[in-house]
Amino acid sequence: MYITYRIISQMKIFIVHAHPEEKSFNAALTRHATNVLEASGNEVVISDLYAMKFDPVSDRRNFTFQQDSNYFKQQLEEKYATENDGFSADIKAEMEKLFWCDVLIFQFPLWWFGLPAILKGWVDRVFASGKIYGGGKWYDNGIFKEKKAMLSLTTGGKLPMYTEIGINGDIRSILYPINHGILHFVGFDVLPQFVVFGASQINDERRQAYLEEYAERLLNINDTHPIIYPVLADFDADFQLKS
Ligand SMILES: Cc1cc2nc3c(=O)[nH]c(=O)nc-3n(C[C@H](O)[C@H](O)[C@H](O)COP(=O)(O)OP(=O)(O)OC[C@H]3O[C@@H](n4cnc5c(N)ncnc54)[C@H](O)[C@@H]3O)c2cc1C
Repeated sequence: MYITYRIISQMKIFIVHAHPEEKSFNAALTRHATNVLEASGNEVVISDLYAMKFDPVSDRRNFTFQQDSNYFKQQLEEKYATENDGFSADIKAEMEKLFWCDVLIFQFPLWWFGLPAILKGWVDRVFASGKIYGGGKWYDNGIFKEKKAMLSLTTGGKLPMYTEIGINGDIRSILYPINHGILHFVGFDVLPQFVVFGASQINDERRQAYLEEYAERLLNINDTHPIIYPVLADFDADFQLKS
């Protein structure tokens, strides 16, 4: 089968990959994304969190020194570290990749209707107050407002379970805390998620089709409309939608 792709302008893509098994379908998705994107002239950087043995526990070790060593208050320490170059080396490396990229992708299996802990911990530690958000830098005025982000995930449950009338509920509602509460909160334009439903239950042919659909999605990133959220100007002084 021959697939024709549009020529796209070069992008810098940062994939944060969270799966413990290198033969998994999640790993196949990340490998395929890398091959397809690089073949069309894009740059790809991957943080393979399990392979890196990324420490997801957020605590004092996030910092090389502390403002207050008697009482740990993470957001205050984050602001202090932002002003004094005080983040630990592993956090600084991930922040650099975030500022480098045009497009951020989270690749993960849905675990308990959310991110695997290693990826949630990556967010807890890397998305630091002062450096990544805060001081009026949020939502459509966020630090990353010129950048795009996208979730690529697999589920155990099949698609009908993730509709409005499905037993698990609409996948868009399940992913809202990640899309809106994490990615859009720090300014990203969030593209609609790419979901492989029932990854272990479908056959190889269907999985192959999903890989091709994913390639198509990635190569059309520049033409993909982000999810529409209200903008800051839509809210009053109490951050409630103006009537
Ligand atoms: C802690 C935990 C919580 C969970 N919570 C949820 C939940 O809330 N909701 C839910 O729906 N599910 C849940 N699950 C299930 C989980 O989401 C799925 O098991 C996962 O998404 C499947 O993706 P995978 O990459 O691990 O699949 P794998 O099992 O690794 O892969 C699926 C199949 O793809 C094959 N494959 C690999 N590479 C290729 C390739 N290149 N081409 C074709 N086939 C290939 C593999 O050999 C395998 O047969 C949970 C699981 C755990 C462990």
